[in-house]
Amino acid sequence: KLVSREVQETDTIIKIGGLEIGGKKLTVIAGPCAVESREQLLSAAQAVRRSGANVLRGGAYKPRTSPYSFQGLEKEGLRLLAEVGAQTELATITEVVDEESLLTAVRYVDMVQIGARNMQNFRLLRAAGKSGKPVLLKRGLSATVEEWLMAAEYIVSSGNREVILCERGIRTFEDSTRNTLDLSAVALAKQLTHLPVIVDPSHATGKRELVGAMSRAAVAAGADGLIIEVHPDPAVALCDGPQSLDPGEFDALMSGLRPLGAAV
Ligand code: PEP
Ligand code: MN
Repeated sequence: KLVSREVQETDTIIKIGGLEIGGKKLTVIAGPCAVESREQLLSAAQAVRRSGANVLRGGAYKPRTSPYSFQGLEKEGLRLLAEVGAQTELATITEVVDEESLLTAVRYVDMVQIGARNMQNFRLLRAAGKSGKPVLLKRGLSATVEEWLMAAEYIVSSGNREVILCERGIRTFEDSTRNTLDLSAVALAKQLTHLPVIVDPSHATGKRELVGAMSRAAVAAGADGLIIEVHPDPAVALCDGPQSLDPGEFDALMSGLRPLGAAV
């Protein structure tokens, strides 16, 4: 396999402007689950930037469990991401859900995300392989590590070596957290592949009170980065408020990573 350490022993480092993902420094992606308005996104971006985040996240196409939940601002959300990313000098990432949203998103953002629900959408993986942008590939809700790596193989074998793997929790019998964060998969993936591996403690736990502890655990397990949901006022978030940190909580989380030796 192209993603295997046997094919390439050294870590893949993905460069976006001055940013290196998979290098010595921890990459921190932060921002709201969904782009809701210019004010909301700008306020989140300024806060996460101030605390040391490198990349601004924001969903424009939201894969919601219910069709009646907020579905995202779509193209207007992408426009806002581009505008706010430029204004705050942060790289940007957004989720794409099909080939059409992929082709639109690449005109506005620096990186694209393929969500857990689409990890085995093989046509989307192939299209992402031809997108010319780094791809953050989330682990599927019930995917084995082997299936996750094979999904990455689809992207790499389609011509795109810039893939970042993201562990975001898996479905288990445990329902006191939203998902079960599988940190052994992070350590294992780091052995099996040369691709960068990051952790999403927000979707893994579903609870803001657990995000800090799981972030520190992810760093200890060898993760190359974190993706964390931050909202200026989580109480009024249109998506994933209970797992979103406010700016003060995010700042405290970032300070808590430094004693672990994480360069952030
Ligand atoms: C997200 O990042 O907002 C998201 C929907 O994540 P996942 O695909 O991991 O559920
Ligand atoms: Mn979310």
